Amino acid sequence: MSFHTLRLVLGDQLNAAHSWYADDDPGILYVIAELRQETDYVRHHVQKVCAFFAAMSAFAESLEASGKPVRHLTLDDTAEFGTLPDLLHHLLKDHGIRRFEYQRPDEHRLLAQFRSFKFPGGECVEFDSEHFLLPFDEIPRQFEAGKQHRMEFFYRRMRKRFDVLVEDGEPRGGKWNYDQDNRESMSADDAREVPEPLLFSNPVGGILERLERHGVDTFGNAMDPLPWPVDREQALELLEHFCGTCLEKFGRFQDAMTTATDHAWTLYHSRLSFALNVKLLHPMEVIQAALNRFETRSAEIGIAQVEGFVRQVLGWREFIRGVYWANMPAYADANHLEARRELPAWFWTGETRMQCLRQAIGQSLQHAYAHHIQRLMVTGNFCLLAGIDPDAVDAWYLGVYIDAIEWVEMPNTRGMTQYADGGLVASKPYAASGAYINRMSDYCGQCEYRVKARDTQEACPLNSLYWHFLARHGKRLRDNGRLRMAYRNLDRMDDDVRENIIARGDWCLENLDRL
Ligand code: FAD
Ligand code: SF4
Repeated sequence: MSFHTLRLVLGDQLNAAHSWYADDDPGILYVIAELRQETDYVRHHVQKVCAFFAAMSAFAESLEASGKPVRHLTLDDTAEFGTLPDLLHHLLKDHGIRRFEYQRPDEHRLLAQFRSFKFPGGECVEFDSEHFLLPFDEIPRQFEAGKQHRMEFFYRRMRKRFDVLVEDGEPRGGKWNYDQDNRESMSADDAREVPEPLLFSNPVGGILERLERHGVDTFGNAMDPLPWPVDREQALELLEHFCGTCLEKFGRFQDAMTTATDHAWTLYHSRLSFALNVKLLHPMEVIQAALNRFETRSAEIGIAQVEGFVRQVLGWREFIRGVYWANMPAYADANHLEARRELPAWFWTGETRMQCLRQAIGQSLQHAYAHHIQRLMVTGNFCLLAGIDPDAVDAWYLGVYIDAIEWVEMPNTRGMTQYADGGLVASKPYAASGAYINRMSDYCGQCEYRVKARDTQEACPLNSLYWHFLARHGKRLRDNGRLRMAYRNLDRMDDDVRENIIARGDWCLENLDRL
């Protein structure tokens, strides 16, 4: 069979509703390929690679079932081609194809590779991925490189533009943002009510064997069957499960952390990020499903719950993407606080005496997942306070999470948690002592360290590291209005108290691997 056009579908472009597929031209060949450049650009959690490969395979099958000519290439087929351009040259020549089409990738790395692809005598055509709510061309108008933008204002504009929870131009319920109602911790009784997560049973033995055969270096707990959704039906089922059982308390317990339930790793979170990021789900259908459930069950699902969810998908997700594209590629090198320390080795094992970090890292290695506050206020906060090099922090986050793709991982990690962008994402560093973790979790009661102590050998390391962080970055951060109170407290300390805390902080920084 001869083809005139090759359309390449990337692993995070599994959008069956894309306008490409309305075209029944039999001269178009669709290619979906497992590639070493994608397994190797960072060391990944094994569940992440399995989820991508399984979802790609399912997507190829569904395209084929709809009558489209498809070549689904596995690592066995592509191993001899070092990079994506090598493979493309081979395929285009092999099939005598003169036109190459692709959907604009969401990562700068891949976009640069596609746009510099040389196809002498042939044509390369770029398409939109038809996924995001803010059109790509509008990003430069809404986000200026190097300039601080506030999510809250962007979010309000998006609410109005898409008419979400808005009545006559005003926010439904009277407030744009119910963040203040989204900060409850979880009692043991609350924890007993956490619903069982919906998990899938996707066989991935063949993929695991292939990764082994090709010597792909992964880490984390391999699961066969894989519990993550890998096709459209499963993604929709998970969305339905979220709306039916989790939305009701989503906002209320959004920031809570607990060990008091077997479902502590999922709580009321949707776990939709993988399905969204590989485009099995469209963000507006996710928002609409939550709104529909809110409308039909508004007695049980309060506005604070649904607004909390909408804010994440319509607000944060789109905002983060805007910051990424406006500031790349420089963003990838940002290191405003000049953090240079190495990531402690226990990030790869979870073997630390700090219960909060042991929980968040252990769970990440076990499930390739941690919820937002664990990422932000436990692992992220620790790296910020300890001054870990943002390159190492980025590499860990990009590798470990099921949903990690650079456009969304990097501004969250380098920007929101590490303040390496100097405040483009966060208006102040998200720095916290043990008191925050004690307030939002039950971790501290199970910890070898004492959360109320600051300068003794058994004192919670986060306490001295917190004050040490403020003290050593005084020149850069003292003028930040949102840190005024923290600096006032530091200044008010007796000199000997401050010196002891700083000495304990010095010890922690010199002994990160032993904490
Ligand atoms: P829920 O809590 O159920 O939230 C619903 C949805 O909102 C998510 O699925 C996600 O699509 C969206 N969302 C929520 N917060 C954010 C946010 N800050 N940025 C973008 N989207 C958001 N998210 C990723 O998708 N990929 C990443 O690689 C990633 N890395 C992160 C790294 C750090 C350090 C931090 C602090 C956050 C990161 N996030 C990332 C954002 C957020 O933590 C995850 O989207 C969320 O935990 C995914 O779980 P969930 O689907 O259960 O989310
Ligand atoms: Fe974490 Fe400190 Fe609490 Fe231990 S005492 S769990 S280290 S915050």
